[in-house]
Amino acid sequence: MAKKQYAVIGMGRFGSSVANALSGMGFDVLAIDADEQRTQEMSNVVTHAVSADSTDEEALRALGIRNFDVVVVAIGEDIQSSILTTLILKDMGVPVLIVKAQNELHGKVLQKIGADKVIYPERDMGLRVAHHLTSPNILDYIELSEDYSILEMRASEQMIGKNLLELNIRARFGCNVMAIRSGNSMNISPYAEDRIENGDVLIIVGHKDHLTKMELAYPK
Ligand code: ATP
Repeated sequence: MAKKQYAVIGMGRFGSSVANALSGMGFDVLAIDADEQRTQEMSNVVTHAVSADSTDEEALRALGIRNFDVVVVAIGEDIQSSILTTLILKDMGVPVLIVKAQNELHGKVLQKIGADKVIYPERDMGLRVAHHLTSPNILDYIELSEDYSILEMRASEQMIGKNLLELNIRARFGCNVMAIRSGNSMNISPYAEDRIENGDVLIIVGHKDHLTKMELAYPK
């Protein structure tokens, strides 16, 4: 199977980090920015770095952007450019279009005009940090929808030595333990009898309110 081809538009902190990471994983990456200095800085990192205005349809066409499997639009501040770029790329038939949103309203517009995935890096990172601050056991927090999330939580002192039946998380909080990570091994269909060991990490899915209730019940 041919390697996937990625294009990233906007070499701000977020876009350049995505481009850098994809390149590090061995993928071909085309980095685009209107600012020549920014593309210059990326030229040693990615396969191709080009300066172009992504609101210029002809310029995008000349770059063959339609042939890329995934295009990431990482223009934040200039919302108008972000929307226009998304619209043009969607019209061109880019297979997967991922766009960074600056705020909820921007995100809604992007969704309406056909972005396949809208991401909110600042908001999501803020959420994660907040959850980690309220309880150091919370390692990660991923929003699935407005109401539901996934929580990655280090086993609290009160959980160690107990099995899932004894913890009774589903009945007490209405959340589901989807998986338990023990060191390098991952138990992806835990049984009621599975015991929680020191250092285990629980991956739990549930309503936001229920997850918060559970977090508060296991402060350390
Ligand atoms: P970050 O927080 O990730 O640094 P940001 O949200 O502040 O980014 P901006 O700095 O607004 O995002 O934009 C990121 C990059 O997008 C900038 O380098 C800018 O030059 C580039 N950019 C903005 N508009 C266009 C455009 N029309 N075509 C190509 N690049 C653009």
